[in-house]
Order: sequence, then structure tokens, then C-alpha cells
Amino acid sequence: MLSVETFPTLQEAAGAVGPRAKFLGGGTLVMRAVSYGDQSFEKIVRAKTVDRAIGSHAAGLRVGAGATMADVLAARDLEFLHPVARAIGGPAIRNMATVGGNLFAPNPYGDFAAALLALDASVEMADGRTMPLADLLATRDHVTGLVAGVVFQRPESSAFRFRKISRVKPKGVPVISIAVHLKRGDPRVVFGNMAPVPARSVGAERALANGSDGAAIDAACAACLEGLAPEDDALATEWYRREVAPIHLRRLLEDGGQI
Ligand SMILES: Cc1cc2nc3c(=O)[nH]c(=O)nc-3n(C[C@H](O)[C@H](O)[C@H](O)COP(=O)(O)OP(=O)(O)OC[C@H]3O[C@@H](n4cnc5c(N)ncnc54)[C@H](O)[C@@H]3O)c2cc1C
Repeated sequence: MLSVETFPTLQEAAGAVGPRAKFLGGGTLVMRAVSYGDQSFEKIVRAKTVDRAIGSHAAGLRVGAGATMADVLAARDLEFLHPVARAIGGPAIRNMATVGGNLFAPNPYGDFAAALLALDASVEMADGRTMPLADLLATRDHVTGLVAGVVFQRPESSAFRFRKISRVKPKGVPVISIAVHLKRGDPRVVFGNMAPVPARSVGAERALANGSDGAAIDAACAACLEGLAPEDDALATEWYRREVAPIHLRRLLEDGGQI
């Protein structure tokens, strides 16, 4: 029997989540699981106060975990992330899907998490802890507590690019997503759906460390699969993902981000 517990704050709700309890963000995945009779949890935990604020922060920008993709699209400060938010589901999903929930969305989802990883985002937990997003993603099946918000620096104009590869446009789920932040000397290349969680391509990053001219792009595409471990699913085989990932990375690096 499924129960629902509602707490005044995220901090109080954090104390009630556990292996058999799921926090309800926008509910796009949790409520689908309920509808399908998922027996892996028996309690839904809610918080009455939801942090949807988007604004400046000492480290750059902060987005409350309760901000939806529609909130992101309405925020002029986050213009560089609009292509990412716009790529997630259709309008109804974007009105409910939260940034916090996307960090826990299993493959094939997690487009926003991939983008935030490329931006080297940090995660603020409800209990006050802060950790790199990469650490949260690496341990997210066992992480204790709830995410309160994410912070990251604004990228230089046109340094951030995103591409989602899906079979059905415009609302299909991603076969692969790619987020690139071309920071000189310290670039980030992140793939979604090329590992169990969004993952950096260390080979591509190494090749782009000194710039992104034609030779560097060739080297990045040749090395981009290093360390990645895509899997078969209903959308594509592991083989197909390995074949097309370098092609889409090249298009993103040469042409810029297009959905
Ligand atoms: C039709 C459809 C299309 C979709 N298309 C896409 C797509 O194109 N790209 C994509 O990336 N995703 C897609 N999704 C997946 C999903 O909508 C998004 O990933 C969304 O951002 C999840 O957020 P949510 O708030 O709805 O999560 P919920 O369903 O509320 O929660 C999902 C998980 O996150 C946990 N969680 C939520 N908030 C927090 C928090 N603050 N702290 C800790 N844990 C938390 C929950 O406990 C749960 O385990 C799609 C879903 C559907 C149903």
C-alpha cells in the first residue's frame, strides 16, 4: 500500500526519504512509476515549500532544485541552457519536470544533468552539504538526502553547446545527448546515454585542451569513446551508439548546437 507524507520544508522531507521512499519533484517519473504499479517503493515524500528560484550566486548562477524546465525557459539569465530545457519532453512535461529530478532520471533521460556536468556544476544538499555534480551522479543510487539547488558559472558566450540525438523530433527521448563547454585549457565534453550516468569524455577533452581547430576536432572525435560504456536499450544498441557518437560530436564542434 502506497502512502504519501507531506512535510513543510525540503529539510524535513529529506529526513523521511530512504530506500523504500521516493521524493516527489515534478512527478513525471515518480507518478509514471506509480501508474505502472512499481513495487520498489512504498512511500512518496513531498515538501510544501519548493525552491524554484533562479538567480545570481557567489559562484555564478544558482537554480533551485524545484525549478521546472519551463522556469528555465522563462529565465533570461539561463539563455544558454534554453536549448537543453526545450529538448526535454513536450510542453506538459516541461511544466512539471524539475532540475532536481533530472539529476536522478535514469537512462535514456538526464539531458539537463549532462549539460550541468559540462558546466562543472556543484550540488547543494538540503542539509547544507555541497558536492560536485560528478560525485552526486557517481553515487546517486545510494545518496542520502535531497538536492536543494545547483550552482555553476556562466559560460562565455558561444562556449557552451548542446545536441540531443533522438529518433522522433521534436519530442523523442534521447538516443545520445552531448554537452560541450569549450573552456580554453580545460574543456568539458559530456555524453548522456554513453555510460550508466552522464559522463565526461576524457579523450575528447584532452584533444580539445589547446583549442578546437580542425586537427583538434579530428583528434577529439577519434578519442571520444575512451572510458565510455554505452549499453543496449529499446532505442539503440551499444554498437550504434559507439558508431554515431563521434559523428554527432563532430557536428556539434563544427556547426554549433542544434536539436
Ligand atoms: C513523456 C516523457 C518524456 C521525457 N523526455 C525527457 C527528455 O527528453 N529528456 C530528459 O532528460 N528527461 C525526459 N523525461 C524524464 C523526466 O521528465 C525528466 O528527467 C525530469 O526532469 C524529471 O524530473 P521530475 O521533477 O519530474 O522528477 P520526479 O519524477 O519527481 O523524480 C524523479 C527521481 O528524482 C528524485 N528527485 C526529484 N527531485 C529530487 C530532489 N530535489 N532531490 C533528490 N531527489 C530528487 C525522485 O525521488 C525520483 O527518484 C521524460 C519523461 C516523460 C514521462
